[in-house]
Amino acid sequence: MKRGDLLIYLFIIFMLLSSFLIYFFLNRIGGANQRIKSVVVEYKRQVFTEIPLPSEKRTVELKGSWGVLILNLDGYKIRVNPASPHYCPDKICMNQGWISEPPQTIVCLPNRIIIYYRGGAQIDGLTH
Ligand SMILES: [Zn+2]
Repeated sequence: MKRGDLLIYLFIIFMLLSSFLIYFFLNRIGGANQRIKSVVVEYKRQVFTEIPLPSEKRTVELKGSWGVLILNLDGYKIRVNPASPHYCPDKICMNQGWISEPPQTIVCLPNRIIIYYRGGAQIDGLTH
């Protein structure tokens, strides 16, 4: 075996190992987040808005049946801002705090708003 051949073999083995390690690493660390495509906001069972993720830090105003909720977005994290100016009677949506991956959802019954992640084959398969 020539020295050049040995280098090529070593290179191939190195590439195989590193691609396996990267694959393994991404699955462990970013597993759920890698598959999230967007966050969906439903109002009265209709899609009100769909925002691609990850999102920059921003706020979105949602008009519900009871009042206006302020949604905070930061990367893959989502919450209903506890300082939303309009009163939510049960405050369950606000007290829930940040959600960061499926299947976590935020539901505001008084406002008839549902917030959930879209992404991943199994979730898409269920919703259609
Ligand atoms: Zn609420």
